[in-house]
Amino acid sequence: MKKLEDNFLLNKLKNSTIRDVLSRKVRDLFYECQGVYLYFVDENLSILTAPQVSKPEMTFLDEIVGMPKVIDLARRCVDDPYDEILQEDIIGNCSGAIACVKIRLEKEYIGSWVVLGLFQQEDEELKLPDYIELTTAQAFSKSLRVLVKLSNDYLQLYLRNLKAESELELAQASESRSQTDLRRNTIMTSVVKKLDSEEDIVVIVKQIFREVENFLDIDNMNLMSLNLEEKTVSIISEVASEHQLSYSQQIQNMKISSFPFMTGQPFIVSSNTQLRPVFQEFAQKYQLMAFVTLPIEVNGQIIMYLNAWMNREKIWEIEAIRFLHDMKRIVQSIISKRISQNSLSSSFASLEAILKNIGCGIFVEDLQTKDILFRNEMYGHKISKELEARPLPLDETGHMKTAKFEEISIPSARRWFDMRYAEILWVDGKSVALCTAHEVTDKKIYQQKIEHSANSDFLTGLYNRMRCEEDLKIAIHESVVDQGEGAVLFIDLDDFKHINDGLGHQYGDVLLKAISSSLRKIPGVCSNCYRMGGDEFIILVTNKNYEFFEEILAGVIDLFSKPWILKGAEYYCTMSMGVVRFPTDGITVEDIIRKADIALLEAKKAGKNRVEYYDATVAQTDVKRLDMEKYMRTAALNPSEEFEVYYQPIFDISVEGNPCTGAEALIRWNSSNLGFISPMEFIPLAEYLGLITPIGAFVLEESCKRCRYWNDMGHPNYKINVNLSIIQLLQNDMLDTMKAILDKTGLNPQNLTIEVTESLAVNDMTYMRKILGSVKELGVRVALDDFGTGYSSLNHIRELPIDIIKVDRCFVEDVGKDEYSEVFIKMVSELAKAIDVNVCVEGVEEEEQFLIMKKLKVNMIQGFYFDKPMKLEAFEEKYL
Ligand code: C2E
Ligand code: CA
Ligand code: CA
Repeated sequence: MKKLEDNFLLNKLKNSTIRDVLSRKVRDLFYECQGVYLYFVDENLSILTAPQVSKPEMTFLDEIVGMPKVIDLARRCVDDPYDEILQEDIIGNCSGAIACVKIRLEKEYIGSWVVLGLFQQEDEELKLPDYIELTTAQAFSKSLRVLVKLSNDYLQLYLRNLKAESELELAQASESRSQTDLRRNTIMTSVVKKLDSEEDIVVIVKQIFREVENFLDIDNMNLMSLNLEEKTVSIISEVASEHQLSYSQQIQNMKISSFPFMTGQPFIVSSNTQLRPVFQEFAQKYQLMAFVTLPIEVNGQIIMYLNAWMNREKIWEIEAIRFLHDMKRIVQSIISKRISQNSLSSSFASLEAILKNIGCGIFVEDLQTKDILFRNEMYGHKISKELEARPLPLDETGHMKTAKFEEISIPSARRWFDMRYAEILWVDGKSVALCTAHEVTDKKIYQQKIEHSANSDFLTGLYNRMRCEEDLKIAIHESVVDQGEGAVLFIDLDDFKHINDGLGHQYGDVLLKAISSSLRKIPGVCSNCYRMGGDEFIILVTNKNYEFFEEILAGVIDLFSKPWILKGAEYYCTMSMGVVRFPTDGITVEDIIRKADIALLEAKKAGKNRVEYYDATVAQTDVKRLDMEKYMRTAALNPSEEFEVYYQPIFDISVEGNPCTGAEALIRWNSSNLGFISPMEFIPLAEYLGLITPIGAFVLEESCKRCRYWNDMGHPNYKINVNLSIIQLLQNDMLDTMKAILDKTGLNPQNLTIEVTESLAVNDMTYMRKILGSVKELGVRVALDDFGTGYSSLNHIRELPIDIIKVDRCFVEDVGKDEYSEVFIKMVSELAKAIDVNVCVEGVEEEEQFLIMKKLKVNMIQGFYFDKPMKLEAFEEKYL
């Protein structure tokens, strides 16, 4: 039986079943007929079967031989290389024999029989119990031979069966194996063929997956593609077996990080594999009991994963894994091939498409002939023509300058382009210019918008100072080049602060907006109107518009002669204007604006609400405005050093002897740098710069102190008149300041008169009444100064809580010459009497004027006729 060497059989033989069968079957057969006891000991010397006897029988047997003896005998027999049988006598209480018989199959040791035979006794006393099987020595020897033969026969038979069985098994196995192999090879071949398929990659993969799914009985085969930029995953192809889950909906742009197996390594997970928690979670989420996942690498980068997923239990066999691997390799090759094919075969088409859709115009021009060799379709023909018609930026040698960019505008089309030029070698080896034109129109328009907002004033929408300076620069230049003329109208609202503080900022804003839009509507002004800040505006009259200069000016003046409607009421707002012409008055922006400022200040000084032209001669004798500003700021820090209060006496002419009733305090500035400066000059600037507050406080305190002194020195009724600028009047702490000064100097408030200019009182009667009312509550008296100028209205006298009307001196100048002046003064003094208000006429210089005032029943007089404003010492010497 050489065939026994066949591994398969040998393995079967070594398997213990043969011993089980042999030892039990042979023992039973043998035992029945021979009356001996049998043990079977296997090659490991353990007793496989013992005699099947009753309990007392067994106890009896054990007493005679015992298991150790059986095993000992078996060992000795096995160890003996010469004899197949080893027999020994049993001596003692009973006689018998014990023998060990080696059993072999084809020389292979299977095990040993240990046979015990007890012989019949002659001696009645030594009779063994009835339940003991007995034999004879002859029968014992014979039974040993039978046993060997029986065992051998049986083994042969068994072996034959076994062989037949295993041959059948082998045949069956090889048949199924070859069937699987065949199917596998068929699938392989069909799959490999797909390498050359032209079909869509997704379709191909699906076909492959269907085969694999079928063949390996896999629940779900899918191909996941990675989006490496976004770090997401999507299933691009999937085949699920019937009744199993599909995932492609669920796995769509999911984060790579949510797939623990995407490490670039293959994973083979069977349902009995111990999983780490992340994997457990993942498996649970997708109801997976087993899975294989294989990375697909193209050009050194993992771009996909091929997955075989099981919703049922599965232990992966090596064959299945090998097969999946092969499939993966095929899919990988198909994909790699596709990718490289795509990039190559489509590169020319792509290039064309790129040039067409690149988002900029491209043309190639022959540097010598200037012929256009190539042009993409990006732009309309007209634009191309215009762009191409421009000369190329070449150097002296006819070559392209390096890295040349420029911005080109096509005004007719309102389009802008960024042009780039480069010299390249054309297909024929010639040097050509490659020009790209990138349209930047949108950017440009946006930029213009931004520039506009940077150039314009947020509140009014007018252009701002920055833009004004730019436009003025151009306008000056044009006027020089065209030998024309232009002008700047510098407008400043008079007392705008009053409206702003009185009505509230939102109404101030409303007024500024209304003024702005009205200014813009004046014919010829249009966009040449600028807000310079606060309440200052500039109108630029360019050379082109200069013929309308008079109309523009008249338009502005007219605009401010009418009231504005604010809070449902009429408000007057006057303006002062300085006019400068260019290039006659100057040719730089700085110079023109400075001179416009000087002219404006002149207008303010001249009493506001008027227009002043810049006059070089005035300006020259005039202190330079900037110098004045500089020195005034320092002087205002310590007003008593350079400022001095002069006093001009006021007289009561209704009483015999025309006694002095007190004085008006008038400030003087004796600047250490600029010399003596009249208040007419510096007060408007002080107001403008906000310096009037400290200066005014100085005048108030100084003059109250003096008046208190006069009152103490025998003139208890002398009064002091102090001029208050509207700016001071509007300060929130004005009343407090006034009260503090009165307290400090101890002056009787009745002896203080504040003079406010009448024109200021016009705009907001309610507000004005309120302020003046609270001044009067302190006991201080109020005089309406410069009455008769500005928007004077006799009604105002009735409405405001005033004590004195000071008629402006311009009326005195004309008395005796002009009937109206006399009538006016008469009317005022009668009205004043009716409402119990005093009238003081200013500027009486001559006796004749004095006499007329007396005749007109004016009660108070102030003027050079009696005395000029004088230094404190002079006043006190004369009037104390
Ligand atoms: P005002 O309040 O109208 O003061 C009267 C001005 O007329 C004074 O000019 C005075 O010198 C001048 N004057 C008086 N009598 C005659 C006359 O008979 N003939 C002529 N031709 N002029 C006469 P002054 O001192 O130059 O002041 C000019 C203006 O400056 C004042 O006009 C007043 O509005 C303002 N001012 C003076 N001092 C102060 C002050 O302390 N605070 C404020 N806010 N303004 C002041
Ligand atoms: Ca005055
Ligand atoms: Ca006055």
